[in-house]
Amino acid sequence: MSRKVLITGVTGQDGAYLARFLLDKGYEVHGMVRHSSSANLERIEGLRGRIELHQADLLDQLSIVTIIRDVRPQEVYNFAAQSFVPTSWSQPLLTGEFTALGVTRVLEAIRLIDPTIRFYQASSSEMFGNVREEPQNEQTPFWPRSPYGVAKVYGHWITVNYRESYDMFACSGIMFNHESPLRGMEFVSRKVTDAAARIKLGLQDKLAMGNLDAIRDWGYAGDYVEAAWLMLQQDKPDDYVVATGIKHSVRDLVEAAFKHAGLDWREHVECDPKFLRPAEVNTLCGDASKARRLLGWEPKTTFDELIHMMVDADLERVRREQAR
Ligand code: NAP
Ligand code: GDP
Repeated sequence: MSRKVLITGVTGQDGAYLARFLLDKGYEVHGMVRHSSSANLERIEGLRGRIELHQADLLDQLSIVTIIRDVRPQEVYNFAAQSFVPTSWSQPLLTGEFTALGVTRVLEAIRLIDPTIRFYQASSSEMFGNVREEPQNEQTPFWPRSPYGVAKVYGHWITVNYRESYDMFACSGIMFNHESPLRGMEFVSRKVTDAAARIKLGLQDKLAMGNLDAIRDWGYAGDYVEAAWLMLQQDKPDDYVVATGIKHSVRDLVEAAFKHAGLDWREHVECDPKFLRPAEVNTLCGDASKARRLLGWEPKTTFDELIHMMVDADLERVRREQAR
């Protein structure tokens, strides 16, 4: 019989990649979706009929209990969250409810219904924030710099705590930024690759940006979901950093994307203070040697391959939209 999995946040970037990955592995895939007045299923459009969707919300404990009781999965991946850092300043309480307490709601449902279910928590390099050392590994102290980062620290520690308190198979994947053609439009990578495509095709001329000096360790979402799965296939639950270990600035990202589209970024990019943050995470760079050693995981896609893939996908999509 195939293994059953429940993915919260299945309509998001990572949920869509993991659903495909697990279908290919022969899993029966169930996804949790929240109600909205217009369906938001574009990222999993191609999976229609191959995965089963269930309505529930991270705010609603009973809905999570019900979905886990009905599906009875062997593995749960908790990807659902308010995941955009700037929104966490404008909606800090909602971010705390979704991104922090939401984790406890899923863990509580598992504890009550079947504590043998294996649980993955989508933790974030934003927890390192004002970094204490470089590169960051599983022992590096946290110093989050946004309500999002603070909420993720809670999610990480409650996962560790349920493992220690109840002996649950609960893992926290501390993932550094990972992108793809399915990345949300407001995140810097996708904002830039979409703009490069639109400028190339004559639909826009300028791109307003925030801090070009920020440095991130960017990888490909398709590579990273495999690491999440590997964590739940081990003999023991544990926490792992998932990263490439390579740093690039936002300026490098802009330059790579525009160059691939055949454009000179200096002619189009403007700085707008509206995109600066109340507190910035200046630099992040992960040390994934534990994942490499114990999971046998390593990233396959380079920064340039990732940015080219995203620009090409956005060029194709914008061309299709123009042709309509
Ligand atoms: P994403 O594209 O923003 O997806 C977030 C998902 O959460 C969406 O499916 C969203 O549903 C769902 N969601 C939000 N609030 C919910 C609620 N109250 N109840 C149920 N579902 C809710 O995020 P992602 O990039 O795939 O990231 C996946 C996870 O990894 C997130 O927890 C994120 O914080 C974490 N993470 C991401 C990165 C990265 O670089 N991508 C790095 C580290 C950690 P709707 O479609 O209805 O909005
Ligand atoms: P984050 O690392 O989770 O906050 O991911 P983002 O993709 O939202 O931002 C990565 C970095 O890009 C941050 O340091 C931002 O300050 C910086 N950045 C610079 N300009 C922009 C912009 O216009 N939009 C976004 N989202 N980030 C920007």
